[in-house]
Amino acid sequence: MSDIIQLLPDHVANQIAAGEVVQRPASVVKELLENAIDAGANNIKLLLKDAGKTLIQVIDNGKGMSATDARMSFERHATSKIKKAEDLFNLCTKGFRGEALASIAAIAHVELKTKQENEELGTCIKIEGSKIINQDFVSTSKGTSLAVKNLFYNIPARRNFLKSDTVETRHIIDEFQRVALAHPSISFLLHHNNNEVYHLKSSNLRKRIVSIFGAKMNEKLVPINEQTDILSIEGFVAKPEFSKRKRGEQFFFVNDRFIKSSYLNHAVVNAFDGLLEQGAHPSYFLYLSVPANTIDINIHPTKTEIKFDNEKALYAMLRATVKHSLGQYNVAPVLDFSRDANLDTPYHFNKNTTTATTPKITVDPNFNPFKQETEKPISNSFNTPKKTESWEALYTSTAFDVEEKQEVLFDTSQEVKTQKTFQIQRKYLLSSIKSGAVLINQSLAHQRILYEEFLESITVKEANSQQLLFPVKISFSSSEIEMIYTIKTELENAGFSFDEFTKDSVTIKGIPLSVTESKITIVLEELLNNIDLEVPDASFSHFDIMAKSFAKTLSIKTGTQLSEKEQETLVNDLFSCKEPSISPFGKSTFKTLTLKEIDNLFNS
Ligand code: ADP
Ligand code: MG
Repeated sequence: MSDIIQLLPDHVANQIAAGEVVQRPASVVKELLENAIDAGANNIKLLLKDAGKTLIQVIDNGKGMSATDARMSFERHATSKIKKAEDLFNLCTKGFRGEALASIAAIAHVELKTKQENEELGTCIKIEGSKIINQDFVSTSKGTSLAVKNLFYNIPARRNFLKSDTVETRHIIDEFQRVALAHPSISFLLHHNNNEVYHLKSSNLRKRIVSIFGAKMNEKLVPINEQTDILSIEGFVAKPEFSKRKRGEQFFFVNDRFIKSSYLNHAVVNAFDGLLEQGAHPSYFLYLSVPANTIDINIHPTKTEIKFDNEKALYAMLRATVKHSLGQYNVAPVLDFSRDANLDTPYHFNKNTTTATTPKITVDPNFNPFKQETEKPISNSFNTPKKTESWEALYTSTAFDVEEKQEVLFDTSQEVKTQKTFQIQRKYLLSSIKSGAVLINQSLAHQRILYEEFLESITVKEANSQQLLFPVKISFSSSEIEMIYTIKTELENAGFSFDEFTKDSVTIKGIPLSVTESKITIVLEELLNNIDLEVPDASFSHFDIMAKSFAKTLSIKTGTQLSEKEQETLVNDLFSCKEPSISPFGKSTFKTLTLKEIDNLFNS
């Protein structure tokens, strides 16, 4: 038999390698930011369009590349950072694999502009799917600009796999924060769809943390400082009373590289022993420096886990240092009885205080700070429902009200007793309509229904509320309490009623009809989380996020068996919505199949 093994062509090999290096836009961001830092830049700009799906561009003022190096940089295993195997044990750069640019160029449209200090002209190279399209001289400033457009344009499966812009943006911001926290002396700029998200000036560590996490952070920080022969530890932990219910702000850096380590995390948590409430997570920003030859950063492909030679000693030292600092800063005694408890309450919450009633506001439910205006905004007045053409056009061209809508829509010629809908795989509902059939995604449809319900009760009318037999006290971190307090009136409109606010808890005595008692905590936690994710500045109304968040948390999920009656209600409620065809997050809630399309299935 003839030989069958052959070497893969480079562009195929690169594409395969890319799968490991580039999972999502955030991976590209990480690689490019790290290259800029390795190039010695002290000013780095990150420009994004559409959560990086359309554009990721990093512009640095680092040392730039010669024309030959610029070309070489896109070759696989091409790196200036190590020369021989031993160098792997003494890394002082972020990169060393020489894979990133080759991988990125295999799966995107890339444009590189780079110039070294003393050169008159720089180099511009354009690459698409590993192929060099163009190389030219260009007049540009010292440093490098790398623009990555249309990520995964040639791997549709990967592109489709990307999450919503909000989620992808969150991942990018996480990477950006990690890099920015590791290098406070470098100034960073982040623009998304031409909006400035961060403008971080060169500063010290404490100021960098505060400029990323807000001025409130300043008072929470307890400094940590310890030098020994094998380790130096610097940074901050947040005072225990500011611990979080979610592991949000936990950062370890080892030799200026962000790492994850459940082992070291354990050491820190252990140092807080007895100071944290159950289920609370301390915030920390800890910078460890160890000799480069005592760590191995090579064991994980995305390089956030590393191996230490001397793990046990590090653990003990870290724990002792954090414990010592907590004690020194007098945060160890949590309860201080000599204090006036009233002063501890951040708000003068008083039931007799008359709070202003919310004005009847209408919102743009499609508003998304990161999205360009491509979709048609949903009708935003509940009093004067505007007919939206999208789905109605499927059934009729004239305007009609809700009951008519359903009559026109559904095939009422069927016997009353016959079942009108069928559930498929506990995920979809199939129903016969005049023009053919409609397939409805039960979970997305329910999200739409709940969303409109909540939006209406929050913005317009009195909500349906149920009083709890026994008020429920829920603890939150004080920043979360602060957020709940800020949106208290909106929450009340939605059907919540509150009894008492303290520094770290809230007592709830009434909840919206569609919320069950067991879900109160999760509904509120998800809401705070979503507000955190969606609103970079708090100036924007919370109504829409609130309605979306509740809708998502409370909607019927895929896998839920629905009775005939429930199916019918769901279908009826969906088509009574103002915008039945899309979920609050922009996904289609149903698809129609015309009789002709069904016929065609059988004619081919
Ligand atoms: P690695 O960073 O692992 O070396 P990359 O593929 O990320 O691999 O980059 C390849 C090479 O291209 C780097 O070693 C460096 O010499 C060069 N390079 C990449 N980005 C920049 C930049 N922003 N400025 C200067 N040189 C760069
Ligand atoms: Mg690199």
